[in-house]
Amino acid sequence: MIQKIETFLVDVPTIRPHKLSVATMHTQTLVLVRVTCADGIEGWGEATTIGGLAYGEESPESIKTNIDAHIAPLLAGMDATQPARAMARVRKTIQGNRFAKCALETALLDAQARRLALPLSELLGGRVRDALPVAWTLASGDTARDIAEAEHMLDIRRHRIFKLKIGLRSVADDVAHVLAIKRALGERASVRVDVNQAWSELEAVRGIAMLEAGGIDLVEQPVKAGNRAALARLKERFDVAIMADEALHGPEDAMALARMDAADVYAVKITQSGGLTPALEVATVARLAGIGLYGGTMLEGGIGTAATAHVCATFPELAWDTELFGPLLLTEEVLREPLVYRDFMLQVPSGPGLGVDIDTEKLRRMQRK
Ligand SMILES: [Mg+2]
Repeated sequence: MIQKIETFLVDVPTIRPHKLSVATMHTQTLVLVRVTCADGIEGWGEATTIGGLAYGEESPESIKTNIDAHIAPLLAGMDATQPARAMARVRKTIQGNRFAKCALETALLDAQARRLALPLSELLGGRVRDALPVAWTLASGDTARDIAEAEHMLDIRRHRIFKLKIGLRSVADDVAHVLAIKRALGERASVRVDVNQAWSELEAVRGIAMLEAGGIDLVEQPVKAGNRAALARLKERFDVAIMADEALHGPEDAMALARMDAADVYAVKITQSGGLTPALEVATVARLAGIGLYGGTMLEGGIGTAATAHVCATFPELAWDTELFGPLLLTEEVLREPLVYRDFMLQVPSGPGLGVDIDTEKLRRMQRK
């Protein structure tokens, strides 16, 4: 039986300013969810957003409030060994709130997988890989600093895929910045850009032509999420891979974009999808439509990153790798043992449930009072 659902806000400074077209982040707020079951088993989930309300319509505070006031009461006393039934009730009763639903589903599935003594990936269909290549985001905004950071990551064998956040400056300035980094790294690294919807279609046509000619491998969400037709035209026009990210709010969007042939790659995000099972559905739509997969992040800490890793570990094809570096951007860790990054890969935890343990003493100290 589900006995108790608690939520915690934890503010963690980032290791450096993280500059996106929508916000510059200096801290990340983790919303952690703990589900306590009558059989003594606990499950943990997490949701994060980017820049408060700059990225989407849920904020850490709204996630916490809506779980506490509206979602947790629905689940009190329900059978904890049937997480799908619990989530069906939530999805039937609660509109929107995809991030909150994701945190809750993660916690319910973590508890159930621990109960069954299985890694969560086995509950999600079964893992086919134990490690995931991880991209790093260069987002200092300074070309020389970004190149130095990339060289360091190559040296320590942590990343060889780099994503640049652009869209804040003029197209010409952004492209010059990106191509300078690509020239410095050459064939030693894959360089990709995320425009976070900042370009008009005309700017995108101009920008992508130059990026493609300069050897950039992928362009993420160049135009507004709602402008699916523009995304489809850009995909048709260019050979460079076009990735949908903000345009994907779950399986229905995945289906609509696939019907329009609007993207080469989908960024699969558990929060944006509204949970782990809808994220699997997004991936299934992509696979059936011949669309490549990429494991996306909302800059989650260890819990949300582990959850996404378990989802991605079940993908038969993961042509575009992942960006599951969230914990590496944060100065503090709520896990007892941090996730392991080795040889350019995140190792998917293999213990029961998410395979991570929360340092509750540390959490008590760090949580927002
Ligand atoms: Mg993105």
